[in-house]
Amino acid sequence: MWIDTHCHIHTEEDPLEVARSALNSQVEALICIGTDVVSSQQALGFAASIQTAIGAGATDLPRAYCTIGLHPHDASNEKMTGVEGIAHLAALNAPSRYGNLVGIGECGLDYYYEHSPREAQQAAFIAQIELALRYDLTLVIHTRDAWDDTFAILRGNPLPRRVLFHCFTGDKTVASKALDMGAFLSFSGMVTFKNAEEIREAVRFTPIDRLLIETDSPYLAPVPYRGKRNVPAYVGIVGEYVANLKGLSIGEFSDATITAAYECFSLK
Ligand SMILES: [Zn+2]
Repeated sequence: MWIDTHCHIHTEEDPLEVARSALNSQVEALICIGTDVVSSQQALGFAASIQTAIGAGATDLPRAYCTIGLHPHDASNEKMTGVEGIAHLAALNAPSRYGNLVGIGECGLDYYYEHSPREAQQAAFIAQIELALRYDLTLVIHTRDAWDDTFAILRGNPLPRRVLFHCFTGDKTVASKALDMGAFLSFSGMVTFKNAEEIREAVRFTPIDRLLIETDSPYLAPVPYRGKRNVPAYVGIVGEYVANLKGLSIGEFSDATITAAYECFSLK
């Protein structure tokens, strides 16, 4: 079995159908990731509806958890209204863990697209680190072309107990810095791309008790589906590929990465 630790299926037209087909492909649990207030509300609602269905006896669905967060692309709102919305959702949902809320994010810095000014991205990131700490939730980090500032912010602020770099794209040196901080690293279908030798080096370097896998669906489908729409059902393709890079049997790696996912998100 597998856990897809990062997907966005809650914003799709028929997310339950996508979830069912994931279970058919050995995906036992999904973590649905919010990127703004609306998609965070959708993630909360979707995880809750799956929990209700399973509670009522459904056996054709994987378990679902969710995070709420503001992506750096959307961090430019004046007066931080986006972050205030996430803080409000956290206050409503975190203390009781209702709706399987397990994390804050994805949040961080994206200097590649730079859809939002850097200062706004940094302020939103710091505010969300503080939320994760306050509610003891896992911090889910998105960072692109911004390693120095990301590490500077992480070193300069009190951190929550559990930190995850999602869709890790750094090399071995960056992986080493992240692991030294105690963070988990999650690898997506990008690891299967032809030009991704640096990412493969990072995979080889990362201990399996800190290594997670994800699809980031609907984006970043692994080879042989590269360029097509991605789904959580493909997370096993990433898992088998990573198992092979680590020189482990699929069973050994699947057990290890599921245990790491439970640790990283403190799943119950
Ligand atoms: Zn994502």
